[in-house]
Amino acid sequence: MNAPAPSHALMNIAARPDAVMVRGEGSWLEDAAGRRYLDFVQGWAVNGLGHAHPAITRALATQAATLVNPGPAYFNAPALEFAARLAQLSGLDRVFPCNTGAEANEGAIKLARKWGQLHRKGAFEIITFHDGFHGRTLATMSASGKPGWDTLFAPQVAGFPKATLNDLASVEALIGPDTVAVMLEPIQGEAGVRPATLEFLRALRALCDREGLLLILDEVQTGIGRTGTLFRYEAAGIRPDILTLAKGIGGGVPLAALLATEAASCFVPGDQGGTYCGNPLMAAVGNAVLEIVAQPDFLASVRQRGAKLAEGLRALAARHRLGEVRGAGLLLALELGPDRDAPTLVACAREAGLLLNAPRPHCLRLMPALTVCDAEIDQMLTMLDALLAD
Ligand SMILES: *Cc1c(COP(=O)(O)O)cnc(C)c1O
Repeated sequence: MNAPAPSHALMNIAARPDAVMVRGEGSWLEDAAGRRYLDFVQGWAVNGLGHAHPAITRALATQAATLVNPGPAYFNAPALEFAARLAQLSGLDRVFPCNTGAEANEGAIKLARKWGQLHRKGAFEIITFHDGFHGRTLATMSASGKPGWDTLFAPQVAGFPKATLNDLASVEALIGPDTVAVMLEPIQGEAGVRPATLEFLRALRALCDREGLLLILDEVQTGIGRTGTLFRYEAAGIRPDILTLAKGIGGGVPLAALLATEAASCFVPGDQGGTYCGNPLMAAVGNAVLEIVAQPDFLASVRQRGAKLAEGLRALAARHRLGEVRGAGLLLALELGPDRDAPTLVACAREAGLLLNAPRPHCLRLMPALTVCDAEIDQMLTMLDALLAD
């Protein structure tokens, strides 16, 4: 028997509801039937400025009418500005603009392997972490520690031994002559917003310095203001050798970046590239996003809204006897406890006009626009309260 023909020609890569989204504004999405949704997912923490922010619309329209893509063989002004801004804001020296988080992480892996060839006798192993998530290319899936991904699309790319988050001894035990780097998310997002402690991040920095290893931070989800500082590593008072950014840096468009210190930046022409890497259309959006998000007042407002959201979630947890609230800034998780099924709650919330995400069976993740207002946070908490009471 053939399965019933789907009503569309898209490959079946996600379980999606029937709604077709047609427009968005700020914290709100609207579907083709005219239903409005309060969006606390924002394309998986992508739309830091919410939907249809005028600064992004303006950057796209102006740059589209000027120059879309001369190709990576030539300089263009928005890409030069993008690199200069990111270098200045991060304290790292060199920037490779690209399109997706997975692509930035592939670049980080290649850069570390090249550096190992030059400086560590061909060492190539990168210690990564159980439950980590670094993307969906073969190498980044291999670097990820998602259960089941070791056999899906086997064989894996070799060279990614797995340590346990917040367990320094588990990292030390994996260091050998082939080790070149340690790579992690400062807060594991897909794993259910599991933070590396700030002490652990500092200890990893010290360990890498002592052993002559590169520290690679994947800030695809945590970067660009999401946790209340521009980069999460600022909270630990450390700096990585290699940094990857995506999601929030583009405010919704495909834009990512690989950053490195001068000492780690060892690509030569031919090692790395991509037809769309550094195209001025996306770089112009990145500049517009950074212009807003890097303002100290803006970051202070993220911390204030994050504190309000966390406080509201803790009150709900107490009232409905749920589990812990975790995370930083506007990247938060709420543990529901073993009796409540998160995907079911997400489906009921959508019916009620609220978009939430369930990264784990009993865990909700909240990642609203960084521009979410107090009234929208209150409205979300009221809706969630009613859903939990049912
Ligand atoms: C989303 C994500 C990625 C992958 O980014 P894409 O743009 O989807 O390729 C990598 N690392 C982390 C931490 C992420 O959250």
